[in-house]
Amino acid sequence: MEGDEKLEKIPDKKDAMDAVETLVRYIEKDGGELREGLVDTPKRVVESFNELYNGYSQDADSLLDATFNAEGYDGIVLLRDIEFHSTCEHHMLPFTGSAHVAYIPVNKIVGISKLARLVELHSMRLQNQERITKSIVDDLERVLKPLGCGVIIEAKHGCMQCRGVKKQNSIMSTSSMRGVFFDNKEARMELLQLINNPRNN
Ligand SMILES: [Zn+2]
Repeated sequence: MEGDEKLEKIPDKKDAMDAVETLVRYIEKDGGELREGLVDTPKRVVESFNELYNGYSQDADSLLDATFNAEGYDGIVLLRDIEFHSTCEHHMLPFTGSAHVAYIPVNKIVGISKLARLVELHSMRLQNQERITKSIVDDLERVLKPLGCGVIIEAKHGCMQCRGVKKQNSIMSTSSMRGVFFDNKEARMELLQLINNPRNN
């Protein structure tokens, strides 16, 4: 029974610092006092976690809550090249890249910076790229009820660059299309063209 109680307790900052200290000792193969450069490492690591994982303290519904009247605008709204940093949930190593987020409004538009914040909200968690991609379109679809929405993400994964197959330059692409971008090939082509050749449009 004691084991069950232990599982239900959410670790506090002290527990997390102790865990990092254990990892440091494991890495250094040293059970003694932490050497000078490492003494404050558990605290620094946990505080950097608070920053890296602050997506958990945000919520998409309140983020996208402030909408404006689209005033008849019914074209594509696209924010390209939103750079992001995330952490892969399998290895806890960083992956970084950029996201392109688009939608076609029906009555409601959202402040453009909210699209960048939405990418942050999902990337600043333990993640995989597929889930970030899907979560962003899910939120846009649910809250804005657009004619269509789409997300394309391209990222390099630290867990492939510095360990395992050690490929430095491979880029993983994911995309999720909803509504008119899913149903209508021309709409999807227009979006892809805007993303790939912004100056030709
Ligand atoms: Zn990984």
